[in-house]
Amino acid sequence: MTEVLFDEGPHKFILLGFGESSREEGIPSNQYLVVHGTEAAIFDPGGSGLFPVLSARISEWVDLARVRAIFLSHQDPDVSAGLNVWMEVTGAKVHLSRLWTRFMPHMDLVHSENLVPVPDGGATVEVAPGFSLVTLPAHFLHSPGQINVYDPISKILFTGDIGAAERSNGTIYVDNFAEHLPHIEPFHKRYMAGNRALQKWVREVERHDVAVIAPQHGPLYRGQAREDLLRWLFDLRCGMDFYE
Ligand code: FE
Repeated sequence: MTEVLFDEGPHKFILLGFGESSREEGIPSNQYLVVHGTEAAIFDPGGSGLFPVLSARISEWVDLARVRAIFLSHQDPDVSAGLNVWMEVTGAKVHLSRLWTRFMPHMDLVHSENLVPVPDGGATVEVAPGFSLVTLPAHFLHSPGQINVYDPISKILFTGDIGAAERSNGTIYVDNFAEHLPHIEPFHKRYMAGNRALQKWVREVERHDVAVIAPQHGPLYRGQAREDLLRWLFDLRCGMDFYE
């Protein structure tokens, strides 16, 4: 399932796969494509089993060799297991936290030289001339080296596992946060490292003009649901908060 989330001039932000999984037991995940003119970036492309369907969908928008950047929110298998094939086919630079770049060559990457470490404070990445995306720090949510990716044109923030739902009712946007809460609460309480990390992250998000929060799993947040998610996370006790 593909959905165009933003489309203005040369710029498009596309939900490339919604709740996709190549294996029954795998957690369903979302993949995103940002197109600017003839150039593109993708976020968390997932395992190699998803490559055939996702590459076919990307080809409807841009040449695969024009995918200039791949952003990995963290090191988990559902984020990066298919990285080798994506790197070979696209020739893209791969941006992920500096904490993980030195572990990735263990995946027998043919082009490890294309790994680009993201500094702890985040960075602006020029994907192509006139096309930049901003990585924001989201450390300990849940990985020690976790990044978000902000697109200043569409104002969509890709948050990886933050806001991720284990299940959903199949709609692309959350329309009732209270009804959605049971799908996100157990995961966030167990995986997110602690409330201090969440508060720091919410303040970071509020420094930017964010219209949509787009996680790696489950529906997206906009309007009141976006507001409700930020307030809920700001107050959430999780992870180490229970080790007292
Ligand atoms: Fe994860």
